[in-house]
Amino acid sequence: LFYAAPLPGGEPANRGRLLVMVRDRTAQKKLEKMRTDFIANASHELRTPLASLLGFIETIENHAKDDPAAQKRFLGIMRAQTERMLRLVRDLISLSAIELSEAEMPAERVDLTETARAVCDMLLPIAGEGVLHVEADGPVTILADRDEVIQVIQNLADNAVKYGGEFPSVTIGVGTGAPPTMPGALRSGDTLHAVAVRLGVPEAQVAWVRVADQGEGIPRTDLPRLTERFYRIDAEKSRKKGGTGLGLAIVKHIVQRHRGGIQIESVEGQGSAFICFFPPAALAQK
Ligand code: ADP
Repeated sequence: LFYAAPLPGGEPANRGRLLVMVRDRTAQKKLEKMRTDFIANASHELRTPLASLLGFIETIENHAKDDPAAQKRFLGIMRAQTERMLRLVRDLISLSAIELSEAEMPAERVDLTETARAVCDMLLPIAGEGVLHVEADGPVTILADRDEVIQVIQNLADNAVKYGGEFPSVTIGVGTGAPPTMPGALRSGDTLHAVAVRLGVPEAQVAWVRVADQGEGIPRTDLPRLTERFYRIDAEKSRKKGGTGLGLAIVKHIVQRHRGGIQIESVEGQGSAFICFFPPAALAQK
């Protein structure tokens, strides 16, 4: 119930009647809950490593005071934790920056193929030689923000390497129209059709980048929730690999800001593919 009051008594017809206004606050409450959950999660993600850092500092000051080998080992752990916290803060800042600019449509002409190749070069020191491959027939020009597209491909390729099994092999495909599909895969997220309708262009003009791995895949129940902030299939494993739980949320926000879409497909035990749809550069002329 939002508001209730007796109707003005002047009119004889209104006498003894009530004005009642009802507002459905479900959506607003859900949004508020998401916000408070996010703050609670972010605080927890930062508090845990900070408490652990304090523990290590105290150990180095006391028990390990005269043990250089133990000190060296603890400092290594402390460095890894500090680096992860820095990544988390950087990801939190990216996420809020993207949210702030969500209403504006990016307007640069960006070649997806060239951008995918650039990301491969950037990730070479982390992924190693021969792990990342780009598959494209030629340039695919989209209407985008180049730095944000780099971040999308980087986050997806980084995950594909992290969760791609012991000897990862990752394909970054670029094209327009219908992307390749994994036989027998479960699917979640936006469809090519929905994105084409939203953009008002034929399906054949919608551009995509598809990052596919041959890793462990994604269980059915996790698939629809993967792009939520801090959602992880195995939080311990993600942390060990230096993850922040925000990579896919950032990808989703960037793609939404481009009025595109994200689709995830996976076969458990065989691998996953993350497809991001983007508007063609021709849309600018419309
Ligand atoms: P994180 O920092 O934990 O990697 P992300 O938002 O990038 O955070 O991903 C969320 C979760 O989705 C990961 O923790 C992981 O469980 C799952 N995930 C992401 N990419 C893949 C992939 N290529 N294969 C399997 N699981 C994945």
